[in-house]
Amino acid sequence: MAKLTGAAIMARALKDQGVEYMFGIVGVPVEPIANEVQKVGIKFYGCRNEQTATYAAGAVGYLTGRPGAALVVSGPGVVHGLAGLSNAKENCWPMVLIGGASPVKQNAMGAFQEERQVLIATPFCKFAHAVELPERIPFYVEMAVRTSIYGRPGACYLDMPDDIILGEAEEDAVQFPTRCAEPPRMAAPEEYIQQALDLLESAQRPLVIVGKGMAWSRAEDEVRAFIERTQLPFLASPMGKGVVDDNHPLSVGAARSLALQEADVIVLMGARLNWMLHFGSVPRFNKNVRIVQLDISPESISQNLPTEVALVGDGKAIVGQMNKALEDRQWFYPKEAPWHSAIAEKSSANAKQVQTMIEDDSAPSNYFRAFRDISPWIPDDAIIISEGAKTMDIGRTQMPNKYARQRLDAGTYGAMGLGMGFVLAAAAVHPDRPIVSVSGDSAIGFSGMEMETVCRFKMPVKIIVLNNGGIGSGVEALPDNPLEALPAHLTVAARYDKMMEAFGGKGFFVTDPKDLKAALDAAMAFDGPALVNVQLHHAAGKKPQQFNWYT
Ligand code: ADP
Ligand code: MG
Repeated sequence: MAKLTGAAIMARALKDQGVEYMFGIVGVPVEPIANEVQKVGIKFYGCRNEQTATYAAGAVGYLTGRPGAALVVSGPGVVHGLAGLSNAKENCWPMVLIGGASPVKQNAMGAFQEERQVLIATPFCKFAHAVELPERIPFYVEMAVRTSIYGRPGACYLDMPDDIILGEAEEDAVQFPTRCAEPPRMAAPEEYIQQALDLLESAQRPLVIVGKGMAWSRAEDEVRAFIERTQLPFLASPMGKGVVDDNHPLSVGAARSLALQEADVIVLMGARLNWMLHFGSVPRFNKNVRIVQLDISPESISQNLPTEVALVGDGKAIVGQMNKALEDRQWFYPKEAPWHSAIAEKSSANAKQVQTMIEDDSAPSNYFRAFRDISPWIPDDAIIISEGAKTMDIGRTQMPNKYARQRLDAGTYGAMGLGMGFVLAAAAVHPDRPIVSVSGDSAIGFSGMEMETVCRFKMPVKIIVLNNGGIGSGVEALPDNPLEALPAHLTVAARYDKMMEAFGGKGFFVTDPKDLKAALDAAMAFDGPALVNVQLHHAAGKKPQQFNWYT
């Protein structure tokens, strides 16, 4: 009778469960798994750092609806992989991390790279378990895949000891569960839908907040229909951008602070009142605000602010219910409401504030001037990756998204160094779409070596580095003694473009904004990976904010 190795069983089980992409770094003991997954048609992307691999796996989960897989070696490999595991947990993205482990028979003996991996992965996971027999691998894989996408999505971890990977089982003794179905779409009780609409009808200054939970649930058609039917102003979270077109006339993106401060009824859809929404607290929110909250996770209801109407379940299903219920109502939010004009006034005042920076052609460029050329150059259907402090913050307002799941950024965890992982994920999932990453110079440094990876896989991604020579602000010139530089300062005008060229891609270095457009066009025309390194003025900043983003 035929025998299967643990590695072969793992590959087949992953394929059966709809896992199509794996990112990782091979070595003892996981290399056989990587070899076997390629044989069953799972695409394996060898990375240069386990952080990137796990960041990529989470992003694949978000983009595709099925978890991405990451494969890392034992001990330090798993430790490095915790970066993307924690990021997936915080962002509610499905992924499965597979960690090699030292052989069971050497447990507690001081084996090579022996580590208590299930223990250290557990805080970041919905499910973390060691596999103890080759024939049980498919059970654990189905469990991990299903757990990662059912309910609030998240990360799972499977520990694969050396002797399980190399171990064998009789083919007949292994049961492969069928592919777990797509997550059930739970609806809300009809009376709660009516209560939510009643509350909205009573509002003076209503606001809909659209988070990335709605992007994940693929509710874009329903949300757009809801906004257009009700004529309610909406605010997208950073990755909720594009669920409804950022350029939609009802978007309040350009008057975010005012909209949050003054709204008296907020419908929170697939977003959390965490630091990104200032915990829903005064003075960023109206102290009498009333909340309708739509979320798949009942534990999230009323977090930080009491929810008046809780719509627990799937975003697409529940907004669909609301649209249906609206068919029996005449009501919509009046176009001539003073709230609309207050938002419009504030939006144009805010736009005026940055206009001088947008129009400032002096060299080196400022952020807004750079985005003046970058934004219209980005194709409508591109996946936009964004990381860095000011680069990301300013890019959030200056780079509009037209479609859902079109923006990947530092997200809930505020991590840096994940951009190249997201670039890999986006290029793997969408080989037919342009992939554009706009990164700060500090951010690109974390995983810049993955430029070798994108070149090796011939991914025609376009990376822009907004290079101010520092974390936050840069410096005009470093002092002779580098120990006297501020901790935030980096090399002035570092040539990240040459890194890209070193691996076979194309690099451009722009010191005067008048040359930016031509460099961008040449990068886009190049049939391969390209990096446009844009030198910014060391003191380039953003417009003065009334409140700090994170306070
Ligand atoms: P953002 O950063 O965009 O504000 P968050 O990550 O804070 O978004 O919140 C996303 C929310 O979406 C989470 O609370 C999560 O439970 C919820 N969510 C996840 N999947 C679904 C779904 N299918 N339907 C509704 N809500 C969902
Ligand atoms: Mg910088």
